[in-house]
Amino acid sequence: MAIIEVSNLKKSFGQLDVLKQITFNVNKNDVVAVIGPSGSGKSTMLRSLVHLEEINGGSITVSGEPLVKEGVYSKPQEVKRITSKMGMVFQHFNLFPHLTVKENLELPPRLVKKESPEDIQKRSSELLGKIGLADRASAYPANLSGGQKQRVAIARALMMNPEILLFDEPTSALDPELTGEVLEVMKALAEEQMTMIVVTHEMGFAREVANKVMFMDNGEIIESGHPSELFTNPKNERTKAFLTRSL
Ligand code: ADP
Ligand code: MG
Repeated sequence: MAIIEVSNLKKSFGQLDVLKQITFNVNKNDVVAVIGPSGSGKSTMLRSLVHLEEINGGSITVSGEPLVKEGVYSKPQEVKRITSKMGMVFQHFNLFPHLTVKENLELPPRLVKKESPEDIQKRSSELLGKIGLADRASAYPANLSGGQKQRVAIARALMMNPEILLFDEPTSALDPELTGEVLEVMKALAEEQMTMIVVTHEMGFAREVANKVMFMDNGEIIESGHPSELFTNPKNERTKAFLTRSL
């Protein structure tokens, strides 16, 4: 079953065509690694999925519901409901600095007001345990390491029970010794069958955890396939050149 279907997605900034007719699907339980050089449109692609960017043409469907169909967006309340099926984790964490870890987790579901505070608290404690930060519930983001902050950002995204998690270079802002703890949390989610799209430079993670790799260059998906195929036997010259530089 497709969680995300993208067809002929186009996005420009002024004269600059950043995404040129992109088409791909993400199925339930897929872990899709998106790789490619800086400026190739990876972030713009993820941001378009959650409507942080307005696209200029094409369609995006989330679990069978149209977010945008041939360039025409659904009604604002529909767009809000459909994008809320997706959770996003950013390179720079984007935690609320004036809130504690626990408050960071609990604020988004509280704003939606669909659940009791008890249910929300129960889930935040469970998730803090899961990311190994049960003892830091009352800490403020400024007093956490980068790796801890990113684990909190992942837990916060999970608080909304998303159908899919999108990661935009989740370890790129971290000191090398802190990337492992974040990748471990992501790997555990993959093992629990979480559907994910991960923009990453971590080729080891892509190879080990992803079941599909998409190589983007200059606003296009140049090549995609299973990591065992794409990493060992890339077909396109641009993919080969990129992998030679990255591995
Ligand atoms: P990547 O994430 O692969 O590095 P981006 O999606 O960030 O690539 O950027 C793709 C291209 O779009 C780049 O040329 C970038 O300069 C341009 N771009 C991204 N965001 C904007 C924006 N808000 N306004 C103008 N150009 C942008
Ligand atoms: Mg980017």
